[in-house]
Amino acid sequence: MSGSFIDRRSLLAGVAGAIPMAAAAAANAAPNAANAPPKAIGQPLLGNPNDLPEAKKVNWAVVGLGSFATGQVMPGFVMSHRSRMTAFVSGNPDKARDLGARYGVSKFYDYTNFDSIAQDKDIDAVYIVLPVGLHAEYTIRALKAGKHVLCEKPMASTPAECEAMIAAAKAANRQLGVAYRVHFEPNNVDVARRIKAGELGQLRYFTGDTGFNADPEHWVPHRWRLQKALAGGGSMYDIGIYAMNAAMMCMGEDPVEVSAVYSYPRDDPRFKEVEGGVNWRMKFPSGLYAQGSSSYCYAGGTRQKIYGDTAAIVMEPASDYYQQSVTLMRTGQAPEQLHAGNPIVQFGAQVDTFSTAALTNTPHLTPGEMGLRDIRLINAIYRSADQNGATVKV
Ligand code: NDP
Repeated sequence: MSGSFIDRRSLLAGVAGAIPMAAAAAANAAPNAANAPPKAIGQPLLGNPNDLPEAKKVNWAVVGLGSFATGQVMPGFVMSHRSRMTAFVSGNPDKARDLGARYGVSKFYDYTNFDSIAQDKDIDAVYIVLPVGLHAEYTIRALKAGKHVLCEKPMASTPAECEAMIAAAKAANRQLGVAYRVHFEPNNVDVARRIKAGELGQLRYFTGDTGFNADPEHWVPHRWRLQKALAGGGSMYDIGIYAMNAAMMCMGEDPVEVSAVYSYPRDDPRFKEVEGGVNWRMKFPSGLYAQGSSSYCYAGGTRQKIYGDTAAIVMEPASDYYQQSVTLMRTGQAPEQLHAGNPIVQFGAQVDTFSTAALTNTPHLTPGEMGLRDIRLINAIYRSADQNGATVKV
């Protein structure tokens, strides 16, 4: 009642010139603010607190624009916060320019003028995504050009090449990392954390199988994988390295001895130069064992199981690009499905972590030394398999 009395008085006052008529009418019509329906209103761009300003991001050249570089590495940069691509290095200029247009990259090099990146201030770090037999050469050339290097797994063809890469990084005072993406994948990281925190009780055993059926006829990237000079080794180098590396990540130890046998059809024409499959075993200083298989002959991907004395964790798939399935199985309880995050973040997280290593010139989480360790181990696994499973000390 009193409201309508005041409104009538305001209206009268408005006539007298104290309140304009239109404002008075609007005030009369306005509903109580507390009851007003919400309105969609644009807001200022705040950005992600993890993002570095563009000018401070680490500038990367990607070397080798093949299946993994275009399918996973480049989209990973788009999702990163401290890293950006500024240059592409390729033997195929048309492909490089097409990709440059897509990703806003305008500097292009090829394998012959690669060393001139030394003069390019817009390149801080180099990501080597070439066939394995070329990793050492291009890593060392990039380090000599004064750039930090993240090199795809497996690090190189031989332990001697890995050692030369590490020496080149030291000489250049630059960081060298090996791209073990699983160390940046949230579900794998969560499993390692749970094991360390004792959620499985006393650790007992790790088993892991990683493989695919190589199809060189229909899938071009499988061709170089079957040529020793470009691949370094066979299934163990390319895919078996995942479960082997994960075993050490989960057990928290490096092995003291290995044994292995070859496991593939020996008359298969695909495997004239490299092995098609290996069943391997590693013994740790604690006395625990891990075992697994790698194959270019089976379908079905990646599977890991880690056993403790009170619980076990099953991961299948264990090291996929886009999906991991992780199940925690506690004695006497229903299996629990774990979800620690979307695997797709692993690609951006990996380059961002290396960018931080480059910016601070401090070692990457998965440094060259880890890559060297793994190539030494795989070579020990081959030595054992060559002797039909003899124990080889490492
Ligand atoms: P691709 O065959 O698809 O790509 C390799 C690229 O390297 C080619 O496209 C080409 O790029 C360049 N290249 C230069 N010289 C040669 C040569 N002689 N033969 C073939 N290619 C050559 O291989 P991938 O992308 O599958 O593998 C590349 C690297 O990435 C390897 O080290 C592999 O182990 C690693 N990888 C890692 C994965 C992971 O999950 N971390 C998954 C898949 C691969 P260009 O035409 O631009 O010159």
